[in-house]
Parts: sequence; structure tokens; C-alpha cells
Amino acid sequence: MTTIVDEHLRHRDIPSARPSWVTDEVIAGLAGRVYRDPAGTGTTTAYAPYDSMAIATLPTSSAEDVARAVEAARLGAAAWQQRDFRVRAEVMLRFHDLFLAEQDKLIDLIQWEMGKARFTAWQEILQVANITRHYARVGRKYLAPRSARGAVPGLTKVAETRVPKGVVGIISPWNYPFYLGVGDAVPALLAGNGVVSKADSQTALTMLFARELMGRAGLPADLWQVVVGDGPVVGGALVEAVDYIGFTGSTATGRVVAEQAGRRLIGASLELGGKNPLIVRKDADIAKAAEGCVASSFANTGQMCIHTERVLVHQDVYDAFRTAVVDATRSLRLGQTYDYTVDIGSLASPAQLAKVADHVEMARALGATVLTGGRARPDLGPLMYEPTILEGVTAEMPVCAEETFGPVISLYPFSSDAEAIELANQGSYGLSASIWSKDSHTARLMAARIRSGSVNINDGAAAAAGSIEAPMGGMGDSGLGRRHGAEGIRKYTEAQTVAEQRGMPLGPPASMTLDRFVDFTNGQLKLLRKLRVR
Ligand code: NAD
Repeated sequence: MTTIVDEHLRHRDIPSARPSWVTDEVIAGLAGRVYRDPAGTGTTTAYAPYDSMAIATLPTSSAEDVARAVEAARLGAAAWQQRDFRVRAEVMLRFHDLFLAEQDKLIDLIQWEMGKARFTAWQEILQVANITRHYARVGRKYLAPRSARGAVPGLTKVAETRVPKGVVGIISPWNYPFYLGVGDAVPALLAGNGVVSKADSQTALTMLFARELMGRAGLPADLWQVVVGDGPVVGGALVEAVDYIGFTGSTATGRVVAEQAGRRLIGASLELGGKNPLIVRKDADIAKAAEGCVASSFANTGQMCIHTERVLVHQDVYDAFRTAVVDATRSLRLGQTYDYTVDIGSLASPAQLAKVADHVEMARALGATVLTGGRARPDLGPLMYEPTILEGVTAEMPVCAEETFGPVISLYPFSSDAEAIELANQGSYGLSASIWSKDSHTARLMAARIRSGSVNINDGAAAAAGSIEAPMGGMGDSGLGRRHGAEGIRKYTEAQTVAEQRGMPLGPPASMTLDRFVDFTNGQLKLLRKLRVR
């Protein structure tokens, strides 16, 4: 029997997807930026989704290389953290300008390595530009010392300061290599840390190109290192060596990373998976809800942690919404082009294609209806799969509760707001949710009852993710910690309390016995309570 993965491998005769400017010299230059002992011999090869051809054979780092990369970054950080924030911010703003100027190349690399449509690749540029500008401009304020009330007001002067963690490790997945890989490194560097990034092997060139641009922007050479290689080996060695770990990836790997970080007693932020609900109330603008649903479901070919997978629709508008969302989905343009003429690109790997096809086939076999899509499109590209809408999905189908991480959504009817909330909260994830309603008051009340790190009202997913000043992350199995907002930079620092005692030290004066001091202080406590002193 021919499997869907065999189909993928048969398409080796299609034209090369390699962008013409990516010469062997360019690849060798980028490969040279991987941190590893020159005597090392390990390599990794990723395959381009558009043509199934080898992208580049890159050197891999060993566990010892990772430890050395961390020490190199630590040496670099010692001088970097002494520099004024403004100096660090200038480097980041030059990086911002450079990647905007070089965006065509970055986008080419993202598409070549990962297969997404060009507009989705450009959105990574947009997102990192907003992140970089935001933290370069506001980071100083987020990290500014804060004075606090002392133990004895007037006698104790207290400041809460922020000191960099030291070296931050960043482990990122393949689905948004620039946004998640580089966008998380920017605030870590701005906070005064060294960084060692473990690029996903599928998308390492994108990160290495960004590293090159950062060097051109003036980042000291040792400060940001990139390591490449097998997840458990290289990622595991990184968690073992750094002072803080920022991980983005699956919930299963997140648990392994969390356990290891827990043993080492280092902090970790974990941005993990989701099974995100979108609720259509009966007062929703159906046309807009359908459009928004299509955008949040199929962007990045559904390979986006916050993308919609479960669509909950009020029974009174179910038929109208179903028609609208199926029509809008059928009008999407699928393809593999290095221009802005298609909406939906390829899946990233044969494993992704197999998972998506399995979820749809198992649902179909167990009685679900495929309203549109539901098939691979090898005529368009080896890993192309049509945006798919299912109906009649039940609990025994894997697509019901497991993250598909592909262009597949399921429609479920509900009859009341309470039922919609109950359905939205089903399962162990809590990453992103969406509510469509003309009644913003009710939608906000519903949002408060949904266990999810972000809730978008009258938008699918982009409104919260694009609001860089507000935190973003997950509840439950979707993770711990947040990126963006104040926490997105403060997490890369330790809070340090500096308390200066003036006049006399804390404690009983020499002239007073301990029992008199206790009586006196107890009296003071009652007085403070009466005076409502905080
Ligand atoms: P993954 O967990 O397989 O891999 C993520 C990264 O971890 C890769 O770089 C991998 O090499 C590395 N890794 C693997 N094993 C490791 C180990 N034992 N120790 C340390 N590192 C290890 O995830 P994936 O399949 O590449 O990415 C898709 C998943 O990521 C989906 O579940 C998606 O929802 C999630 N994701 C979450 C967010 C978010 O912000 N919440 C964003 C994007 C993707």
C-alpha cells in the first residue's frame, strides 16, 4: 500500500526550491556560525518541503560544545551587562533596521526551510520588528529599580532591582523560526544576558542568518551562540548548562525540559501546545466570524500553536456559519510560491503530513463528515494538504482532543453560553481562545470563565498575539510563564532586594529588655492595624 509519505518521496523530479541567491558559499558561511569544535564530525540534513530535496548539511554540536558555547556566552555577558541599556538598545534597533532591509532573504529562507506561504513568513518579520522596537524602547522601564516600603519606614530604604540571569538558553521549534527563535532572544539580550539558542534542525539557516545580521548590527561576538543538533542531546545539554531556559515546543518535550530545569533549580518558561476553541455566539456577525475563523485556523497551514482547531457554534446560527466558513475555506489559494499570490503553503515535513492525514482519516472512518478538504494535493507540492473542515466529530476520534497542528478544524453545535464555556474548557490545554459576539460585555464575562492564556474577542488569534505589550502564554498543559509584555523581559532577570538601614540597626535597642521590646512592638502592631497602615 502506498502511504502518504511515499507520495511525498516520489516527488523528487519537481524544480529545485532553493532560492537563487543561496549559493554554496552562503550556506558555508552560515554553517560556520554553528558553535562546535572544528574537529567535530556530526552533521544534520533537513529536507525542503517544496521539493523534498536536501536543504543543507549542517554541522551538529556535541554536549561538550554546548557547555563551551554557554561559557563563551557567559564571558561575553560579563561586559555586555555593564553597558548602559541605551547602548544595548541601539544594537537591537540596528538589528531591527537590518532585518527589515534584508527581509526578502530572511523570508526566502523561512519559506525554503519550512514551506509556509510568503505572507505568513512576512508576519514573522512584522512580529519580531514589533518585539524589538517595543523592548528597545520600553525595556529600560520594565527593568527599572523600584523603591519599596522598608521594614521601619524612614529608617529602612529599600530598592528592588533586576539583575540579568547570566546565560539564557532558548529552545525553539520549526514552525516560526524567526519569531519564536529570535523574537525571544531579543529581550533576553536586552536584559543583559548572554544567549545560547538551540535552533530546530529543520530551520537552522533562518536562525543562523539572523545571527549574522545581529553581528552586523554590532552585537559582541561571543554573546549569542547558536547550537544545532538532536533535541534530547543538544537541548538536554543546554538545559544542563544555562541559568534559565526558554522553551517553545510540544507539551511532551516541555515536561522533560521542566523536570530537568526543576532538578537544577533554574527558572523556565514553557510555551507549549494547544487545542484552541473559537466560539460563535448567536449574535455574532456571521460573515466576519467565518472570515476570522478561516484566518486563525489555516494560517501557517495550521501549524501555529494558537491556531483554532475546535469551532463551537450556537445552534441557531450553525447552518449559516457552516455555509459561510466552508465557502471562505474553499476560496483560499493553495500553492508553493516565493511571492504573495497564495494564502496557504505546504506542511513542513512528511511527519506533519502523516499526522494530519491520520487525524482526518480516523475521523472519517469513525463517522465524521468532511465538509471540505480532507485530501493531500501532491499535484501542488509533495506536502500540500487541503484546508479541512470536519463535522460530527466524537470523543473517540483523535482529532477531537489531540492537537492536530495542521489545517484541520471541527465544528460542534452548542445551545447556551454556559455550554460553550464548558466545551471550550474541555481537555487539558489552555493556550488561546476566541469569542465572536456583538455583545462585548457578555463576551468579556465569558472570557473570564475560559481557562486560556489569551482570549480574543471578534478576532481569531492575531489580536492578542500581536499586542506585544500584553503577556502571552498558556494555562494548564499549554505551559508556564509568558512571552511579551513586562514578564517577557523580566523573566530573564532575578529580582534583587537591596535594603539599606539608616540611623540604627533593626532590633531592640541596648537600653530595652527583650520582653519590654516585645510588649512595645505588639502595641505598635495594634496601632498600625487601627491606623490602617499597610
Ligand atoms: P518539539 O517539542 O518536538 O521540539 C521543540 C524543540 O525542542 C526542538 O528544537 C527540538 O529539537 C527540541 N527538543 C526535543 N527534545 C528535547 C529534549 N529532550 N530536551 C530539550 N529540547 C528538546 O516540538 P515541535 O514538534 O518542533 O513543535 C510543535 C509543537 O510546539 C506543537 O505542540 C506546538 O503547539 C508547540 N508550539 C507552541 C508555541 C507556544 O508559544 N505555545 C509556539 C509554537 C509551537
